[in-house]
Amino acid sequence: MTTSFDFFNYLDNELYCEDVKVKDIIEKVGTPAYIYSKNSILEHFIEIRNAFEDVSPLICFSVKSNSNLSICKVLADAGAGFDVVSGGELFRVLELGVSPDKIVFAGVGKTSEEIKYALENDIFMFNVESPAELANIDRIAGGLNKRGRVALRINPDIDAKTHDKTTTGKKENKFGIDFDSAGQLIKDIDNYKNIDLKGLHVHLGSPIYSPDPYVQSLEKMYKFLQESLEDNARKRIEYINIGGGYCISYTGENVKKPHDFAAEIIPVIKKLGCKVIMEPGRFIVGNSGLLVTGVTYVKTATWGKKFIVCDAAMNDLARPSLYDAFHRAWPVNTDVMMPEIELPGADRSANDRLELVDIVGPVCESSDVLAEKRWFPDVKEGGLIAFFSAGAYGFTMSSTYNTRPRTCEILVDCDSFSTIRRRETYEDLITGEKEFLDAS
Ligand SMILES: *Cc1c(COP(=O)(O)O)cnc(C)c1O
Repeated sequence: MTTSFDFFNYLDNELYCEDVKVKDIIEKVGTPAYIYSKNSILEHFIEIRNAFEDVSPLICFSVKSNSNLSICKVLADAGAGFDVVSGGELFRVLELGVSPDKIVFAGVGKTSEEIKYALENDIFMFNVESPAELANIDRIAGGLNKRGRVALRINPDIDAKTHDKTTTGKKENKFGIDFDSAGQLIKDIDNYKNIDLKGLHVHLGSPIYSPDPYVQSLEKMYKFLQESLEDNARKRIEYINIGGGYCISYTGENVKKPHDFAAEIIPVIKKLGCKVIMEPGRFIVGNSGLLVTGVTYVKTATWGKKFIVCDAAMNDLARPSLYDAFHRAWPVNTDVMMPEIELPGADRSANDRLELVDIVGPVCESSDVLAEKRWFPDVKEGGLIAFFSAGAYGFTMSSTYNTRPRTCEILVDCDSFSTIRRRETYEDLITGEKEFLDAS
């Protein structure tokens, strides 16, 4: 029985990640646990690189989607650059020994400390999100006797048709600079003595299921370059950074693939005539990871509602409670076929092997529901459930809310697996507080 998640399949009623039984991993490391497929990560990286190879992009993996050092190393070894959004993320990739000329830095609120840290390490480019930030980079670069290489992040006022909380390119969103302000900045760019303007940047949100918003925003950029800039200013726009946002399938349905996006986007890029930077995150790691949880209790109310209470919670996988995200779930061991496609709200009452359940965590919040109203096979206490598509914005969004140690992370490579982050201990959780007890 195959799933739509290429590197995660059932064989003889057992879920495998590549050639390893998920159950064997869990016997060793316990639950909950994030489990990633190394070859899925590599294959998705190569797929997006190949799709866009006509324009030879620098692919900067979005570190916030999955910032584990070992995962970033897999991608660095494959030739990826990195898109960071904080000093902490920059620290991670510098620790790995990533070449600074493959690092770009976005974010509306880069602090002076973060800017200084990035300049001292000679990163490739800042994606600048306001005139005030540009002035700050200029000032700090001057003090350090460095050049600040920048792209202006444009807010093109395009609706990427994604969740309200994950859209970033509409004019009311906090991100980027509107075209008129950008035009003025470019006109005045020589006033910023320590700045090298290298390009323009745009990131519209995530996940985006159609190439149209990319094309529309790049067409707007083209028009801007042609109509609003003088020839000498236009020449400085050497790079166009088209951001991330490429969708993955969370349901098993077919969604657009990188080559579908590339077919529409590449012609506009060629018209722009710039070198290309891309910042995919979710597409590379999203369907390359699972969150596996143990079933702690099963309870059924007298009026019929059934809850599966598991040991993973909203602090481990925040997306369902944060933006109503849909993650497929299925038992790790079951003789009931996982449906190839599962849509939110689908009715499977006709299948007498399935029951309607809510899969919930132990956190003291009613929003701690990982999967709501799902038709699910019978699972017993002590059983295991896999949440699919959890490789992006899974562990990186996890917290220790309710003083819950964060999970371990495991990387599978063919028939072997290794821990790439140990499970936190109770001691870890009070480190940094304990030393102050005696003093107070
Ligand atoms: C989050 C982010 C990305 C990555 O988005 P994905 O949907 O994971 O591809 C890229 N660029 C910027 C600036 C981001 O903030």
